[in-house]
Amino acid sequence: MPNTKYIFVTGGVSSSLGKGIIAASLAKLLQSSGFSVTIQKLDPYINVDPGTLNPYEHGECFVTNDGAETDLDLGHYERFLNIPTSQANNVTTGRIYQTVINKERRGDYLGKTVQIIPHITNEIKRRIQILGETGDYDIVITEIGGTVGDIESLPYVESVRQLKWDLGRENAIVVHLTLIPYLAAAKELKTKPTQHSVKELMESGVSPDILVCRTEHHIGEDIKRKLALFCNVDKEAIIESIDAETIYDVPNLMMKEGLHTVVMKKLGLKTEEKPILTAWNKFLYNYKNPKETVEIGLVGKYIELQDAYKSILEALEHAGAHNQLRVNIHPIHSEDLNRKNVDEKLKGLHGLVVAPGFGDRGIEGKIIAVRYVREKGIPFLGICLGMQMAVIEYARNVLNLENANSTEMSRGTKHPVIDIMEDQKMVTEKGGTMRLGAWDCRLEKGSKAYAIYGQEIISERHRHRYEFNNDYLKLLEDAGLKATGFNPKTGLVEIVEIEDHPWFVGVQYHPEYKSTVLNPHPLFMAFVKAASLHKEQ
Ligand code: GLN
Repeated sequence: MPNTKYIFVTGGVSSSLGKGIIAASLAKLLQSSGFSVTIQKLDPYINVDPGTLNPYEHGECFVTNDGAETDLDLGHYERFLNIPTSQANNVTTGRIYQTVINKERRGDYLGKTVQIIPHITNEIKRRIQILGETGDYDIVITEIGGTVGDIESLPYVESVRQLKWDLGRENAIVVHLTLIPYLAAAKELKTKPTQHSVKELMESGVSPDILVCRTEHHIGEDIKRKLALFCNVDKEAIIESIDAETIYDVPNLMMKEGLHTVVMKKLGLKTEEKPILTAWNKFLYNYKNPKETVEIGLVGKYIELQDAYKSILEALEHAGAHNQLRVNIHPIHSEDLNRKNVDEKLKGLHGLVVAPGFGDRGIEGKIIAVRYVREKGIPFLGICLGMQMAVIEYARNVLNLENANSTEMSRGTKHPVIDIMEDQKMVTEKGGTMRLGAWDCRLEKGSKAYAIYGQEIISERHRHRYEFNNDYLKLLEDAGLKATGFNPKTGLVEIVEIEDHPWFVGVQYHPEYKSTVLNPHPLFMAFVKAASLHKEQ
């Protein structure tokens, strides 16, 4: 049995306090102290995974190498830790119940009443320990989604209580993230909400070992003393988490507060070394000291919600920092774009990203945007649906194939330049049935893509049902839109480029999922560099 240590991260008082960032920052510090660490997210909703959720509901759906559709926090985990996650790193209540109900139907519990305790809680405990049991990790951090006190969170909190008991206090600890609100009128920080949320946890039999306090103002010794006294937590285990300029500052802030030191002490972990954040801090330095700025447009239909395109925004920032460029991102709603206003809306941009998406809302705006940057020689990166829109635009406006479309948008289109994949035709269920996860792609020598990646075979993550229709390959290539990346087994087109355009690349996959702080994605780096070149000219 591997001697894995478990850290549970719970949240109190309010949602959106940034549990994912705290978990990722703590993991970063522990990883930089020499431990192997992974992070898992437990989500208390009934969907089996977030793949069936609208981005307005839940932000972006993050896709792992093994093709799991997961919570966007897994993106933060990968970006911070620079190691891939998998299906085991994200479990929902729906998945837990599905497993238990399948077992019940199979007769595994024959004769017994199936109940939340012990059957659901046992399944939660099993899922929490799966990662530890691989023997790959010294430490597993499990973030419990939602806020303590929610009805939905109860089985998770109960499982944490049991696991703390099963594993022993030196092997499992709870970090509770809470909010210390500031009352401007009274000029005071208030601890009462935190006291109540700790009380709530304690009513479920869990006492937090560490409190991380989100705050707009420094909390000071008095407040720490008060919290320690009323919440039964050591004073050194009250950690301030002040609002930061960027999420990438949080590991340093947590290091200053000594979060990792208290964690290691409580878990009986010894290390002489201080976390080494040299490469991380180099990134931060470049991020904060740009030499130039570039203006990048992001055309999508979920623009109102920052989280809907989280990984794309982060990938652009990573790429910018590594080029010492500040990337100013201009969200542009695809539904607001038309032929008349496109010039006014896109004028002054040095590069344009057209975002992924599903369904026909806003697609004409995307096509108009692609035409604009194609004709003006502005760098373009089309991602998934964005690539498909580029193909449609080229077919319509260069090949003059009137009303060329994707069969996703127009089933009976005369020119289905984008069509449903063969193996998707019989699929009727929506959950987890797309072409998902990492697939190899072979790059054409001499192409822009080949020069950017510097290798012939790459692997990128996918999430789609439709594809470039190879019946139109020759026609499009002869007209100048080249396919430069193919799936070596199926021949599916994964990349298109325009040869006589300064930088025009559409990819069927999602490069954004693989960009991390320490390994920014080559495609995004080349794209921002092209944008900066465009600016100079
Ligand atoms: N809706 C398109 C498809 O299913 C694109 C999906 C995406 O952008 N992720 O092929």
